Amino acid sequence: MLWLLCGPCGAMDSQALVIRIKIPDGAAVDWTVHSAPQLLFRDVLDVIGQVLPDATTTAFEYEDEDGDRITVRSDEEMKAMLSYYYSTVMEQQVNGQLIEPLQIYPRACKPPGKRNIHGLKVNTRAGAGSGASEALPSNSLKKSSAELKKILANGQMNEQDIRYRDILGHGNGGTVYKAYHVRSGKILAVKVIPLDITLELQKQIMSELEILYKCDSSYIIGFYGAFFVENRISLCTEFMDGGSLDVYRKIPEHVLGRIAVAVVKGLTYLWSLKILHRDVKPSNMLVNTRGQVKLCDFGVSTQLVNSIAKTYVGTNAYMAPERISGEQYGIHSDVWSLGISFMEIQKNQGSLMPLQLLQCIVDEESPVLPAGEFSEPFVHFITQCMKKQPKERPAPEDLMGHPFVVQYNDGNAEVVSMWVCRMLEERRAQGPQ
Ligand code: ATP
Ligand code: MG
Repeated sequence: MLWLLCGPCGAMDSQALVIRIKIPDGAAVDWTVHSAPQLLFRDVLDVIGQVLPDATTTAFEYEDEDGDRITVRSDEEMKAMLSYYYSTVMEQQVNGQLIEPLQIYPRACKPPGKRNIHGLKVNTRAGAGSGASEALPSNSLKKSSAELKKILANGQMNEQDIRYRDILGHGNGGTVYKAYHVRSGKILAVKVIPLDITLELQKQIMSELEILYKCDSSYIIGFYGAFFVENRISLCTEFMDGGSLDVYRKIPEHVLGRIAVAVVKGLTYLWSLKILHRDVKPSNMLVNTRGQVKLCDFGVSTQLVNSIAKTYVGTNAYMAPERISGEQYGIHSDVWSLGISFMEIQKNQGSLMPLQLLQCIVDEESPVLPAGEFSEPFVHFITQCMKKQPKERPAPEDLMGHPFVVQYNDGNAEVVSMWVCRMLEERRAQGPQ
């Protein structure tokens, strides 16, 4: 059963979900939901209709940890919102803070906030300082954009402020943790890499990483800072709740197309800064429930790459033939890796080619996708990217102009968002693997 409770509400029992409906004049109405798992998008709209009888509301928004407004228009997006909200509740519980209600904003027409260089947005919360919610304790996890910028600015990240939580994965050289940043209340992904190197090299790496602060693209993972503790470096980046593409198989082509557009745009952005990615592969393509797709782990620090390479084998199945043969590496080599990554994702197999087959990439013809099974533009796109001769592969502008990319370059993040939400839902339903 659903009912409305007007006025401030600071506490929440384990079953009840308190949704705070923020109304345009700055006031708020609290609604206690006792059957949250059954809650439908329609129910929320009905209640908003009771609160704002004169308005026609077709959607509502909530704020993520950056203060970005995220629109909810469907049951899938509701699930993503609730899953995000419960993760913040968990953080509040762990930190002994009072649980805040889930704040939603009946959809008002307004332009999105401007991004800053760390991918943090200006907190767009309206009407602060008046209305029912004013009586609430002010222990909000959210900080103003200026505060966040200050906290996350170069050099301000440190081990003391980080609470390591789940392990997100192990890679070639490091472990990635989901972590909570106490001072900002942000969830981060922190990659910890053990490195036995001199102080001099540590300094060089830190200075080479500087460029990451300047990267400002919605297709590149947000970088918050790095620090050395003893013999390990921690790299703090934006957390992507959908994880990396290596765990997704056979992605429907209309979804994959939008993902490919984002990856091409991310690479084009890096190349425009004269940065080669050097490690394009599905595990370095991240997605989130907002439908964003971002690249991570590109080689901005030669010294970091070299230091890791001293300890770990640097060959992988996504490397271009010229790179395997030790020839010069360029944009074209990233393009090969782009092609083989998308081919790999669409092959219905769980594992990479064995390393012995790498030699075939050098000596034999490039593999091609079976026509019939995939669309002609997709097969053509992959085939072009995987031309043996680097110069025959598409240049950045040719990638953007390729029919497969043009077809899906419509900025429709909702397609990816719905798909990620559905996949995560399926994974949750299957339980731990
Ligand atoms: P390699 O070390 O060769 O690059 P890898 O990419 O699989 O291999 P890591 O970069 O260490 O290894 O990442 C391990 C896993 O952590 C990834 O597969 C990905 O699923 C997860 N991961 C990495 N960064 C993030 C992030 N920002 N948000 C969410 N998950 C992440
Ligand atoms: Mg990686």
